Amino acid sequence: MKPTYEPVIGLEIHAELITNSKMFCGCSADYASAPEPNTNICPVCTGLPGAMPVANKKAIELAALVGLALNCSVNKHNTFARKNYYYPDLPKGYQISQYELPICEKGWLDIDSGSSSGAASATYRDPSRVRIRRVHIEEDTAKLFHEKNYALVDFNRAGVPLLEIVSEPDMRSVEAALDYATKVRAILRYLGVNSGNMEKGVLRFEANISVRPFGSDEFRTRTEIKNLNSFRALTRASAYEIERQIKIYESGGTVVQETLGWDDVRGVTTSQRSKEEAHDYRYFPEPDLPPLQLSDSWIAEIKSRLPELPEAKTKRFVEQYELKPQDARLLTSEKALADYFESVVSKSKSSPKTVHSWIAGEFMRYLNDSGKDVDDVTLSPESFAKLIDMVTDKTVSGNNAKVVLAELIESGGDPQEIVKEKGLAQVSDESFIQEVVTKILNDNPAEVEKYLAGKETLLQWFVGQVARATKGKADPNVTKELALKALAERKK
Ligand code: ADP
Ligand code: MG
Ligand code: ZN
Repeated sequence: MKPTYEPVIGLEIHAELITNSKMFCGCSADYASAPEPNTNICPVCTGLPGAMPVANKKAIELAALVGLALNCSVNKHNTFARKNYYYPDLPKGYQISQYELPICEKGWLDIDSGSSSGAASATYRDPSRVRIRRVHIEEDTAKLFHEKNYALVDFNRAGVPLLEIVSEPDMRSVEAALDYATKVRAILRYLGVNSGNMEKGVLRFEANISVRPFGSDEFRTRTEIKNLNSFRALTRASAYEIERQIKIYESGGTVVQETLGWDDVRGVTTSQRSKEEAHDYRYFPEPDLPPLQLSDSWIAEIKSRLPELPEAKTKRFVEQYELKPQDARLLTSEKALADYFESVVSKSKSSPKTVHSWIAGEFMRYLNDSGKDVDDVTLSPESFAKLIDMVTDKTVSGNNAKVVLAELIESGGDPQEIVKEKGLAQVSDESFIQEVVTKILNDNPAEVEKYLAGKETLLQWFVGQVARATKGKADPNVTKELALKALAERKK
């Protein structure tokens, strides 16, 4: 059945920038390391009268870098603006932001959603290119702590460089929004400008959502869900809001433009205020900061700093290592993981496909189970490569290599020595295996009889018994051959 309504989604992404100092003063941007509330502050970031802001050069470089990574053009002339509103977390009574002339505009990011997101959403029109309207610089607010009948404010975060990345309303499903958000986060991490740590609040999403009759091109009234602090919240809140709006239209009502919050516990969006318009903010050019004049050579220099980004890396992995696209995509989802893979490949005699299966299998399982990052792993790519090569040349069986890998990751060491110490070396020596095969057949006359009577699937059972008796040391292929031969003999 064709869906009757089509969601239209535009995302605003707020990302703090990793710099030494705040956006307009010398206070540390690393507010999380401040020992006490309100210790990482100065007259500028607390909005004392007469204090003058100075723009952070590093933050401007990083903002341009992000814009370029998102295929935007950089405005050589761009300006700061005052966005006026009163809130206790905004000491100046205005936020310094960019309005008419942001640092970057008109970019795009390709997503691959819609292709694999199930039958229902396959009927959605899901443009794979999300246009990016603008990327601009602003400053983060202070933090409020709401107590029983009062609130506390901590200005340590006030003035930290914040980037806002605004998409066009180009996403047509929750999956697409999730895919776009995931890709933007990966790019920010690749660029090293943001840790992507959503639990710490350094990356936040706002989802603008409307729904329209399927097939229509009109843009209907939207609502905006603020402060989504996890991918799960983004997914659940968007899905909820889409359904809520559809119900309103189906019952003949109209959607009102408003700003919503997301109640994660109750799983509902809640009205916060009617949507403010740009003119409510009384934007005007920031008189205390000169416009930014960026030269072509400055922009070219920033552009030259762009690393290979996830899409390009995926493409290269497919070509260079002959990996399947989805396998390459998994490896390139994190730069550290991709680097680790390439490092193991370069030190290993085994094929990149084999290395991929070890990394995607045992290694990732370990990371997931232990909640660790690739960066936390002390196992050197050399040792990992050595172990994989030992499986390739049959020095150790795949199963025993998993035991060695666990040991290597936990306590380090040399794969060859661990194999020796634990007696895990694989034996392909025929006379040794032959002896064990004979013993297993002699010890299990009933199974032998069944096999001879035609139950040939028992062959695998015999191989298993040999593996057990030799603690996984017997080469399973040699075992299989010898067992087949021995059983054939007994048939005569
Ligand atoms: P404002 O300036 O009032 O915040 P914008 O037009 O700049 O509003 O859009 C803000 C965000 O809302 C953008 O991400 C944009 O893609 C999205 N958006 C605009 N119109 C719609 C719509 N009809 N449905 C869903 N999202 C929309
Ligand atoms: Mg907005
Ligand atoms: Zn300060």
